[in-house]
Amino acid sequence: MENVPDMALDRGMWILRTMVDELEELGYSVAERVMSTSDLGVPQFRQRFFLVALRDRVAFRWPTGDGVRTSVRNAIGDLPQLEGGWRPRNGDDPDDPVASGWAEYAEPVSTFQKRMRAGLPAEHQRRVYDHVTRPVRDDDAEAFALMDSSTRYSDLPEELQRYRDDIFDDKYKRLDWDGLSRTIVAHIAKDGYWYIHPDQPRTISVREAARLQTFPDHVRFSGPPTSAFRQIGNAVPPMAGEGLGAAILDSLLTAEREGFTTAEASRLLARWFRSRESLAIPWLRGATRWQTVVGETALSRLPAPVAQLGWRLVAAMPNPNSTILASDALRLGLAPLGRGDRANDLLDIASTIETAGIDPEDATEAELRALGVLAPAVIDLAYRVHPGLADDGSDGAVLATVATVRVASRYFGESVDENRNRLTEGRLAVARLIGGEDHSHDAHLALLELGNSVCSPGVPACAQCPLSGSCAFATTRGFQLQLLDPADAADDVGIV
Ligand code: SF4
Repeated sequence: MENVPDMALDRGMWILRTMVDELEELGYSVAERVMSTSDLGVPQFRQRFFLVALRDRVAFRWPTGDGVRTSVRNAIGDLPQLEGGWRPRNGDDPDDPVASGWAEYAEPVSTFQKRMRAGLPAEHQRRVYDHVTRPVRDDDAEAFALMDSSTRYSDLPEELQRYRDDIFDDKYKRLDWDGLSRTIVAHIAKDGYWYIHPDQPRTISVREAARLQTFPDHVRFSGPPTSAFRQIGNAVPPMAGEGLGAAILDSLLTAEREGFTTAEASRLLARWFRSRESLAIPWLRGATRWQTVVGETALSRLPAPVAQLGWRLVAAMPNPNSTILASDALRLGLAPLGRGDRANDLLDIASTIETAGIDPEDATEAELRALGVLAPAVIDLAYRVHPGLADDGSDGAVLATVATVRVASRYFGESVDENRNRLTEGRLAVARLIGGEDHSHDAHLALLELGNSVCSPGVPACAQCPLSGSCAFATTRGFQLQLLDPADAADDVGIV
């Protein structure tokens, strides 16, 4: 399955988690990733979400690509010079000269171009079809002549700007011969100015868009150019499909079984969290939403024993009013922990909430956010611990913190850069471990607790971890793991 990354990366990632859950229940292994299709030879910046599910839990291994990027020049540099608005006159169908007409073609130069020309019938070797584009207005031709690939719309002389440059700063974009194309989209016919040819005064042709999307030249499109552009932009680039298809075939032939399911990992995590007597982040068990807010605001990132000491004080304040009433004790208690300033912050937050007449236990996320006094991360956590009506109707945000991403990336054996990729790969990996509905609440809290205790940044204490039975990092560190009781395999793992 392929889609735009936003399909999977919404706040709660609920659709993705549900799909994984249901596919696993049907006996499939599931792998998902946001990939740059340029890694598979597509000459575009085109990030897409891919989900691969293989029957009988066969493990999927992602293609690695050959690391060679295809530039715009390598993709379309062999196509003949073209004038905007030109239409072929040499078609053999008098009613449809555009579709049946062609431009004269010389010969391919790059490896990519040779691949694109493969499969053409002998009589078409000197022809290129669909090499048509829209007419160019005189003022646009003048603007194009002033542009190179780094020119922004606002750089153009005012008399050549037809749109507001504050809104349409990237309205015109010239492709760079030596770079990747921007993403070929379905509405390219309307937004052709995003794809100005690297050195000709026109937008790209249907065939050039097809090449950038890696359709070989023998593939034709149905209907007029507008419709052809839509078919091209909506497609999965064939070369990306080919790379993934080959990887699926390899995986099926290797037929290794996937070592874990999300449902199992989620169950182990939830069970571990429920059985843990003392937490490094005690406010993950705050009895009220306000207590979680207080704990996270006042005590976050303190060493566990210090946080636990502070928690004894703030846990006695179940609501904003009780916090205000205990203001002196709060200041006195937090000062020795180096958090005296946070006491004042908390008291400001408590009085704002009280003045607004809001009860944090009944409030929606949106209502608390609207007050503007709580950090978004604190609200996200409070609603994770005590779910309520989330902004997007989900069961709350997937919390891809440095700690949860560390656990998830170690578990999957992926080098997720904790900062750069936290919003994509990191969130996907975290969502994968918390799973669907059954155990996701406690599994999510377990990941936060694990990342702040057992799976620490230095040497993790894998012997105490509920995931050690299938964790890639633990395995590569030489742990020998075995299930303690095969009859209850999903519940207990141990180390020998
Ligand atoms: S087994 Fe070790 S490395 Fe893997 S998640 Fe657990 S603590 Fe972290």
